[in-house]
Amino acid sequence: MLLREVGYARPESVEDALALLGELEGARALAGGQTLINVMKARAASPDALVDLNRIEALKGVSVRGDGAVEIGAMTTYSELLASDAAHARPILAEVCATIADVQVRNRGTVGGNVCSNDPTNHLPPLLAALGAEFAIVGPEGERTVSAEEFFLGVYLTAVGPGELLTRVVVPAGRADGFAAITIGRDGTCIVNAAASLDGEPRVAIGCVDAVPVVLRPGSAEREAVEQAVRDANLDPPSDVHASADYRRRLAEVVAVRAIMQANERKGS
Ligand SMILES: Cc1cc2nc3c(=O)[nH]c(=O)nc-3n(C[C@H](O)[C@H](O)[C@H](O)COP(=O)(O)OP(=O)(O)OC[C@H]3O[C@@H](n4cnc5c(N)ncnc54)[C@H](O)[C@@H]3O)c2cc1C
Repeated sequence: MLLREVGYARPESVEDALALLGELEGARALAGGQTLINVMKARAASPDALVDLNRIEALKGVSVRGDGAVEIGAMTTYSELLASDAAHARPILAEVCATIADVQVRNRGTVGGNVCSNDPTNHLPPLLAALGAEFAIVGPEGERTVSAEEFFLGVYLTAVGPGELLTRVVVPAGRADGFAAITIGRDGTCIVNAAASLDGEPRVAIGCVDAVPVVLRPGSAEREAVEQAVRDANLDPPSDVHASADYRRRLAEVVAVRAIMQANERKGS
């Protein structure tokens, strides 16, 4: 299906992008377009204007800060992240981005777009929640930073309000991480996924079972503690053609344990 007629602007600075988002009625930021253009074609969203962020250099790139945290510009594509030495300071980031869809999607899709769309089947919301990432949001009132738990609010809903932009994601230093997913085919959409981190208090975040990643603190990295934490979360996942709610609940335990076991191996290495 073709797009309906839509206004288009391609600013070169964050300030200009914010001004356009404020001025243009019904405007929406455009990143890689891998979700937005598809939902526009399906008429599930119909913005009147697109503010294309692709020329804003300040929103691109990956760097390692003095404290070891990895700072990722919102407009960094998965492929750019994979090619960046800085991103490998927290190896799980590149490992997970390498499994997102196919090379075409990875060449266009951005870290910012992935989390701003907050599709519950996406890879990055649970990963960044488990890693304790922080999200920098800029708007007419200035910049603020929110935690992952404050950032993901609902399906396709985040703390980035109208007229605001996500500028970067900051992932604290660490290495003892894991990720596991059951997908539809190899590298396909996730049916259930989970990320775990043992840097600091053990954390597991489960995706595809609720509108936002379900973050658990099992208290220990033992298999039984993780399984019990998943059961105690009383997950109420959706049922669809790919998996029943019961099956997803069971898979949630399986992938949570796989993710924490991977994190455990890395902690010991
Ligand atoms: C065939 C296919 C398979 C896919 N499979 C997977 C998969 O298995 N796992 C996975 O994680 N993803 C998957 N995706 C989704 C893909 O990763 C998208 O790239 C991602 O969801 C959106 O990123 P984008 O850069 O394309 O954002 P866009 O589609 O351009 O934007 C998405 C939304 O975020 C908003 N937005 C974007 N950037 C900002 C910003 N900086 N500030 C404020 N708002 C912003 C936009 O306004 C829009 O509402 C798949 C996509 C396709 C087409």
